[in-house]
Amino acid sequence: MTLEIAAVTKRFGETTAVDQLTLAIPEGNMFGLLGANGAGKTTTFRMILGLLAPTEGTIRWQGEPIDYSKSHLIGYLPEERGLYPKLKVKEQLVYLGQLRGMKKAEALSEIDRWLERFHIRDYADRRVGELSKGNQQKLQFIAAVLHRPKLIILDEPFSGLDPVNVELLKEAVLDLKTNGATIVFSSHRMEHVEELCEHVCILHRGRAVVAGRLRELKRSFGKKNLVIHGE
Ligand code: ATP
Repeated sequence: MTLEIAAVTKRFGETTAVDQLTLAIPEGNMFGLLGANGAGKTTTFRMILGLLAPTEGTIRWQGEPIDYSKSHLIGYLPEERGLYPKLKVKEQLVYLGQLRGMKKAEALSEIDRWLERFHIRDYADRRVGELSKGNQQKLQFIAAVLHRPKLIILDEPFSGLDPVNVELLKEAVLDLKTNGATIVFSSHRMEHVEELCEHVCILHRGRAVVAGRLRELKRSFGKKNLVIHGE
C-alpha cells in the first residue's frame, strides 16, 4: 500500500473532526472520499499532507511519515483556492513550478501544454484575479499537478465548475492516473466519484461509515444507499 492511514483521530477542542479513520490506498489508485459538509474530508487531507498532526494514529506514505522533504512529490488542490490574484497567470505558475523543483524551461513547456489543454492559453499574461472562478479553478488544478507529483490530493476539484469544465478536469485526472499517479479526491457528489474511482470511503462526522471497492459496495448496499446528502 502506498498510503496508509491507521486509526487516525483529529480533535479540535471538543470537536472530533476525524474519528479512528483507517484507510489503505494502493499505488496508482484513484480514491474517492465522499462526505457532506463538515464530514472531515479537508482535515483528513491536511493530515495526509503533514499540515496538521493527528491527535492519535499514524499516516505513512510508502512506509514512511510524510514530511517537508517529500513535498515536491505531492500535489495539492486546496478547497480554499490559494492563488495570488495580482500575479499574472504564467508568472505565477512558473513561480510555483520552480518552488517544487522544476527548471524554468521545463515549467514553461508544461504550463503551455496545460493552458492549451484547458482552453485558457489566451489568458497566460492576464492577472489571475481577472479570470472567471472556473478558470481560476483550472489554474489551481494546474498548480497542483504541474510538477508531475506521484501523490495528488484534490479537495473538491469539481465544485463550482460547469459541466464542460468538469469533463475537462475528469479527463485530465484520468490521464494522470494512467501515467501512474496515486490520486485521492473528495466530493459531495457520488456521480463524480463513481465514474472515476475504484475505491471509495464515505465519511460521516469523521467516521468511515462505508469503505471499499466501489463495485463491491454497490453490489452489497445497492446504489440508493450510497447517495450522499447534504450538498
Ligand atoms: P467541507 O466540505 O465543508 O470543508 P469537510 O468534510 O472538509 O467539510 P472539515 O473541514 O474537515 O470537513 O471539518 C470537519 C469538522 O472539524 C467540522 O466540524 C469543522 O468545523 C471542524 N474543524 C475543521 N478545522 C477546524 C479547526 N481548525 N478548528 C476547529 N474545528 C475545526
